[in-house]
Amino acid sequence: MTARIIDGKAFAATLRARVANEAAKVRDAAGRTPGLAVVLVGEDPASSVYVRSKGKATREAGMESFEHRLSADTPQATLEALVDRLNADPAVDGILVQLPLPGHLDERAIITRIDPDKDVDGFHPVNAGRLATGLPGFVPCTPLGCVMLLRDVLGDLTGKDAVVIGRSNIVGKPMAQLLIAESCTVTVAHSRTHDLPAVVRRADIVVAAVGRAAMVKPDWVKPGATLIDVGINRAEAGLVGDIDPACAEVAGAMTPVPGGVGPMTIAVLLRNTLVSAARREGVAIDPAL
Ligand code: NAP
Repeated sequence: MTARIIDGKAFAATLRARVANEAAKVRDAAGRTPGLAVVLVGEDPASSVYVRSKGKATREAGMESFEHRLSADTPQATLEALVDRLNADPAVDGILVQLPLPGHLDERAIITRIDPDKDVDGFHPVNAGRLATGLPGFVPCTPLGCVMLLRDVLGDLTGKDAVVIGRSNIVGKPMAQLLIAESCTVTVAHSRTHDLPAVVRRADIVVAAVGRAAMVKPDWVKPGATLIDVGINRAEAGLVGDIDPACAEVAGAMTPVPGGVGPMTIAVLLRNTLVSAARREGVAIDPAL
């Protein structure tokens, strides 16, 4: 068997086009353009690239991008004052503080200072609680993108055995919550899990969010399973995921790296920003978005 390769790049392009379409509706109805504020502290090269591409994608979707670049030695109080200003700014629908922050800053205090109703990254504990209890809120972009791909490939996920490898607050835990909400039977594995290959072998759906190159091997995979690779690992040959590409010989479908989950993250960020603007303005948008 050779797995169907899940084209996250194409799916993300379609999602971005739908967001642009709906953003125009919000603009017409509300008389203002939805806006995303992105805050970057310091000059980490990878973070700079992410911030630049988020700004470009936001403008391409017909939304406003407000970029705030602060020096690496910015004091906590200055960053908190900026977050307060953005919370109060009616032109700002979404606030994203690019992580990681320089070591002297208290990341948790900054995340919890963002208005939960502008927290388009979905990292605020209020949004984590909303997700866990089934209330509307913002869901972290990467796991929401993974669920969109899974629904596209498999349709209804009810009753599927799903294994999530990784339990971080930004990927593993919200991923597990989303799969529970889809009525999957969910196992969350991590670095203390005993006999991980045997755990993975039970799964109809595997989501790997670990950060270890090609860790999931073909003999771990149940024939026909759907594999979602969140991992981004820099190797000599370029970017590699957490799932060995040779798993394509056993799986039913899998995401490639690059071109799978990666492009979904920004597309979902735009989607969350649009949803925020629509909620704040009371404008109805496509509920399927
Ligand atoms: P993280 O915070 O470092 O969490 C990694 C998780 O993997 C932890 O829960 C850890 O377990 C678990 N783990 C580590 N070694 C393991 C092992 N040998 N066996 C089983 N589990 C193991 O990472 P993250 O932020 O969730 O990100 C995970 C990966 O996704 C990274 O490669 C990151 O670059 C990538 N990522 C991609 C996107 C995207 O847009 N595509 C977005 C976010 C992250 P413990 O909890 O026990 O330590």
